[in-house]
Amino acid sequence: MLELEGLEVFYGKAQILQGLSLSVGPGEVVALLGRNGAGKTTTLKATMQMLPVAGGQVRFRGEDITGSDPYRVARAGLGYVPEDRRIFTQLTVRENLETGRQAAREGVPRWDEAALFELFPNLAERAEARGKALSGGEQQMLSIARTLMGNPACLLLDEPSEGIAPVIVTEMARAILRLKREGLSVLLSEQALPFARAVADRVAVIDHGRVVFEGDFSALDAAPEIAKRHLAV
Ligand code: ATP
Repeated sequence: MLELEGLEVFYGKAQILQGLSLSVGPGEVVALLGRNGAGKTTTLKATMQMLPVAGGQVRFRGEDITGSDPYRVARAGLGYVPEDRRIFTQLTVRENLETGRQAAREGVPRWDEAALFELFPNLAERAEARGKALSGGEQQMLSIARTLMGNPACLLLDEPSEGIAPVIVTEMARAILRLKREGLSVLLSEQALPFARAVADRVAVIDHGRVVFEGDFSALDAAPEIAKRHLAV
């Protein structure tokens, strides 16, 4: 579904991604784990072609999308939910969802308001509330729901559990598992190991812009030095 191969990204002269490779299979949830500044956000933005990729390749559904316009990448079926929850604070939940609508693509379940309200019942209760009146967790859900309106085949989620109340974190995990059951692939960045454990099939641990471990949780648990050295545990 999604393959990153040898990605190199610079901010000015500083090389942030140093040949980063990882893959996400169809219907698979992969957690990108790493400390602050490890390069998680940069990886997601580079995948989305929102940053210039100086080396390597991003393939999505078998097609090389490196250097494409981010708008085209979204139309091809990659949905990106940034860390800073891009919603319209003056619009209602319902209006925000409308702004995410795009032409449906074949073979991908079409998300509409009813399906999204079923996925996020908290949002259904707040359908007429303005974005600015929502809690952080509700804004995060709305941000994901808006992206789903574009019918992505693969979602890129930047720290979906960050800064939200524990009860909402549980709801978020439940929603991600539901998306997986619907056949979506998900690549999410995360600092919290427990959340990753609750939703992901596999993890990729990154440090200094490189993948230093890729595997499932039993493999991660069998190598405790990885978490100790590369994660904030
Ligand atoms: P966080 O959890 O803090 O978001 P992260 O793993 O997502 O961390 P990135 O945001 O990808 O890390 O940042 C990777 C490195 O790139 C960091 O050293 C950061 O300081 C640097 N960096 C990020 N954005 C810029 C920028 N616009 N200009 C210069 N350096 C940047």
